[in-house]
Amino acid sequence: MSLVALSRKKSPWLLHFETGGCNGCAIEVWACLTPVYDVERFGMVNTGNPKHADVLIVTGCVNARSGRVLRNLYSQMPEPKVVIAVGVCACTGGIFHDSYNLAPGADRAIPVDIYIPNCAARPEAIIDSVLHAVDLLEEKGRSYDARRS
Ligand code: SF4
Repeated sequence: MSLVALSRKKSPWLLHFETGGCNGCAIEVWACLTPVYDVERFGMVNTGNPKHADVLIVTGCVNARSGRVLRNLYSQMPEPKVVIAVGVCACTGGIFHDSYNLAPGADRAIPVDIYIPNCAARPEAIIDSVLHAVDLLEEKGRSYDARRS
């Protein structure tokens, strides 16, 4: 395993984007950063810069405008990267799925690796999904290195 892959496994950097829902899932993501859930004990770092992020956490429903922003953020993230759809709104559109201006899920805008189809998603499930994302990053990093060699 390369040192780069090892450091990614130990310290994933998270970017959170709220596309526009009731904010319930966004609040649960922020709860993960509080001393109660303390996601940083797993070495995870919250960043506002997509160029520094390994993991993109998406909450809320995707509409035309937020979908454009989501694609823009995703395209700026370096490979390998993992996307987590947090909450049923981000997974399928949830209770808003048949609204005229919404896409039924974030995966209509960008590739999604992990889905948490709850309303709202609990912090424990979010932390569990990020730990899963760490393994996925390692896997994707290996195939990315193999493609480049
Ligand atoms: S899944 Fe539920 S809690 Fe989360 S943004 Fe949608 S309506 Fe709000």
